[in-house]
Amino acid sequence: MPVFPPLRSFSIPSYIPHVPPPLGGFPPTPSVSTNDILRHVTDEYLSIWGNSEVGPRVIGLLSYDRPEADASKAMEVASYLRSIFDCPHLVVGAAEYKRYAPSETRLVFPLLISGLSAEQAKDLVEYGCFAAPSFTLFCSPWEPFVTDYAFTLQGYSLSADEDGAFVVSTVVQKTLQENLSIGRFVQAHHDNLPDLPPPSYLSLVVDNIYAEPITLAASGGGVDRILFNVYIISPTKIPADHDAWLNLIRGLRYRHMTGCGTVASPFSCAVCFARDHPTGLCRYTDIAGWHLKPPTRPASNTTRGHGRGGFRGRRN
Ligand SMILES: [Zn+2]
Repeated sequence: MPVFPPLRSFSIPSYIPHVPPPLGGFPPTPSVSTNDILRHVTDEYLSIWGNSEVGPRVIGLLSYDRPEADASKAMEVASYLRSIFDCPHLVVGAAEYKRYAPSETRLVFPLLISGLSAEQAKDLVEYGCFAAPSFTLFCSPWEPFVTDYAFTLQGYSLSADEDGAFVVSTVVQKTLQENLSIGRFVQAHHDNLPDLPPPSYLSLVVDNIYAEPITLAASGGGVDRILFNVYIISPTKIPADHDAWLNLIRGLRYRHMTGCGTVASPFSCAVCFARDHPTGLCRYTDIAGWHLKPPTRPASNTTRGHGRGGFRGRRN
């Protein structure tokens, strides 16, 4: 199972309108990494945000987000956080965003939250989700991090249960073990693994692979689609190397007698930004008292973001 966040001591005062976390805290979002979050921020803004004089900072993500040209949403978030924290210098700012291809449909528009003390930044990240009446804010650390979500496989005629998941994890283990490029990569990049004798790096990665089924309901009376999310410890937490790792493992075919597993496009949940489930299967919307409904958007797609540049290449 994914790692759950630590127990949280911080809480929002009851007089501030919010959706309180369920017992045990909000669901973790173990499939979102820094690369996913910052994917659409331009290099210029990554540089501005990365200025060491900014001090403790946190990345904010708004459910059903969109770039706000008038900065009104960022100011609303700042005002809300100031009502919770004693942080008169708090600033919430949007960036300049880019898309990689005109066809890209779900962009992520993170905000930078700064002007915090180190303790406040830690509280924001550990509490994780601020569900106010008019927005839901997810907070992620500024420091780069990776997650174990590797890819979602499609193409097997397996059942959506433990047996199916076991077969898939075994197929993935075998495929990675037998691929020389994988062995070489892990040998060269293992900063996210404990210090081990070299041959053990690959074993550690392979032995901890696990899969979970996900069922997508068919529309119009068709057959449900069964896919499998696969989680693999990334050998590296360096963002560019993690990207290279994902490209490598996502480019393989995971062959089995029940079908040829290929990597499906990752999901992008509009509520919690996870990559391992679609918006309709988000666990957040099952939380008692959950409030936020998808916004009504204009029918035209010409108002969406900074889509001027066409294909801009992949950030490394
Ligand atoms: Zn979600």
